[in-house]
Amino acid sequence: MKIGIIGLGLIGGSLALDLTNLGYHVIGVSRQLKTCNQAIERSIVSQASTEFDILAQTEVIFICTPIGSILITLERIIKHLPPDVIITDVGSVKGSIVPQATELWANFVGAHPMAGTANQGIEAVEANLFKNAPCVITPLENTSTKNVERVKNIWHEVGCKIYETTPEIHDRAVAWISHLPVMISANLINSCINHENQEVVNMAKKLASSGFKDTSRVGGGNPELGLMMAQYNKEQLLNSLKEYQQNLSLIINDIETEKWENLEHLLTKTNQERPNFL
Ligand code: NAP
Repeated sequence: MKIGIIGLGLIGGSLALDLTNLGYHVIGVSRQLKTCNQAIERSIVSQASTEFDILAQTEVIFICTPIGSILITLERIIKHLPPDVIITDVGSVKGSIVPQATELWANFVGAHPMAGTANQGIEAVEANLFKNAPCVITPLENTSTKNVERVKNIWHEVGCKIYETTPEIHDRAVAWISHLPVMISANLINSCINHENQEVVNMAKKLASSGFKDTSRVGGGNPELGLMMAQYNKEQLLNSLKEYQQNLSLIINDIETEKWENLEHLLTKTNQERPNFL
């Protein structure tokens, strides 16, 4: 089977590499010619081009461009394709993509592999990036179940654990476990550096160790990706931020009023619950 991948960066390139290693004929399209050449030289794909017409012979196409380019890319490729081609994506938000994409192309299936690193572009491509990672498929009521199964099978072949839900539940869930943590972590770093006493800030920088490394990691990542999470999952992210703000006020109140038993109860509960997320 010939598979097309558009956007040969971290996610698209890593998927292309795994599929090539599994024996698929993978055809890549990327914005820059040098990325296409590198993808061929490193045997990430069998063929690559900056032109979409190379995808005419493919059966399934993965759009792996940044979130803001997914719908534009879809609009641009469909004129090159026969109507039975399955088009899917890997975007980190689904509600602002899947309904519009399905209007444009009936054989569209939304998906989101929950794998990644802090790196970007073709240099960041890794074999087996998706092994044991969750991959969520987000069909609409009118999405063909046959197409959903084909997309699920491909993600299963590269090692993903497959889940299925609606675009809305997906966006609400990832707001809590992915997009909110980026904002909290960014706010943590920003609050530390903005503190009025420079001597304290300087000492904090020297003393920061494993705890700060863990809690600041996602806030110190790719700014473009964080911005797109906020722009394209605005409503759900705001809901989570406001609920988080209310819960933070309760913690502040418990500390101010020395309700230590409340704080102990909370910390015991979070200690017990954390493994259920990981
Ligand atoms: P990335 O490493 O920056 O790769 C995207 C690549 O797409 C770029 O390297 C660029 O390649 C190419 N590109 C950009 N615009 C394009 C266009 N209009 N047409 C064709 N190619 C284009 O980004 P990524 O982390 O792989 O993210 C890609 C998608 O995966 C996003 O939708 C994101 O939401 C999703 N995702 C990301 C993660 C993560 O943790 N990073 C996890 C899950 C899903 P050249 O300019 O070099 O040609």
